Amino acid sequence: MHEGHGFSTRAIHAGQEPDPLTGAVVPPIYATSTYKQDGVGGLRGGYEYSRSGNPTRTALETCLASIEGGSRGFAFASGLAAEDTILRALLAPGDHVVIPDDAYGGTFRLFDKVAKRWGVDYTAAPLTDTDAVAAAMNARTKMVWIETPTNPLLNIADIEQLSDLAHRAGALVVVDNTFASPYLQQPLALGADLVVHSTTKYIGGHSDVVGGAIVVQDDTIADAIAFHHNSMGGVAGPFDAFLTLRGIKTLGVRMDRHCDNAEVLAEFLAGHAKVAEVRYPGLSTHPGHDVAGKQMKRYGGMISFRHKDGEQAAVDLCARTEVFTLGESLGGVESLIEHPGRMTHASAAGSALEVPADLVRLSVGIEDADDLLADLRQALG
Ligand SMILES: *Cc1c(COP(=O)(O)O)cnc(C)c1O
Repeated sequence: MHEGHGFSTRAIHAGQEPDPLTGAVVPPIYATSTYKQDGVGGLRGGYEYSRSGNPTRTALETCLASIEGGSRGFAFASGLAAEDTILRALLAPGDHVVIPDDAYGGTFRLFDKVAKRWGVDYTAAPLTDTDAVAAAMNARTKMVWIETPTNPLLNIADIEQLSDLAHRAGALVVVDNTFASPYLQQPLALGADLVVHSTTKYIGGHSDVVGGAIVVQDDTIADAIAFHHNSMGGVAGPFDAFLTLRGIKTLGVRMDRHCDNAEVLAEFLAGHAKVAEVRYPGLSTHPGHDVAGKQMKRYGGMISFRHKDGEQAAVDLCARTEVFTLGESLGGVESLIEHPGRMTHASAAGSALEVPADLVRLSVGIEDADDLLADLRQALG
């Protein structure tokens, strides 16, 4: 049902038919660990234990699959629990993965400090450069891990081109679609095999829940993920699934507003005397602008910029905003500001993933654009 419908119709209705018993328009929070069986093995609706399945989570998973254009969705306790499940389900000791050289810090740590100990190694490559990715692959490469746009530099990788390259070498393609959200970018349609999300960010959208998701199209991959979802057990609980599903209903309208506001702020920053460089894929000066225009509906709500007066000025600026809240994370309705070098990306210092010390990252919320503009103007001085 709802297959032929538009994005927001599916976001509001897929997996969320009115409750057959009561007519409740919103799927209830099924706070139960187990289910009465009508005789041994007599399951009503297929549920036996809530790690294996829970109706609130099923509603979320059905909706996630629908809005990402996949056949199956899986909801996890966090984005990293989803990522770890992908590694265990689809890789084995001796396998090699290409990851972005500016991957999300937690993803880098998972590969560098966890997967490596279990015999899966990686090469970090700039995904903006297809030749560099090809050079990073070897006979053991089983997976290419894509993030686009990246955090915090908003680099853009060409999903279609990299998927072709990976598939020719027999490798699977994973796209971390957290920054774009399924409203702006649909990696499965561009050739990716798996999409992974931190639903903590835009999908949840209200900074009130931590969660993760995987969406796939292929049945064999889906079966492997389903088995490991249950076997490893990093599932989303019913309350978290409810909150995430509530967030999804407004994803389309929120994303449009995030984009509207970010476009205004990016233009303002690009013309400001204290700003050395603005990283926003919507600006024609951004090196990934054309690729972003080809594979994204709009350019998203994240902006990074470099302060002309250096690191201390960037740090001070983050403490001076009043509407922008100083904090980590992103994708919520409220605007956030942070200094990646000392906050989200502090652990990357000294590595290939180190970020410029004068960089400031904005998660542009859905407040009134004039208030956000005035706040940045006063903070920049
Ligand atoms: C936050 C984030 C993650 C990790 O998700 P959690 O929900 O924090 O575990 C992964 N990828 C990206 C791009 C993120 O921003």
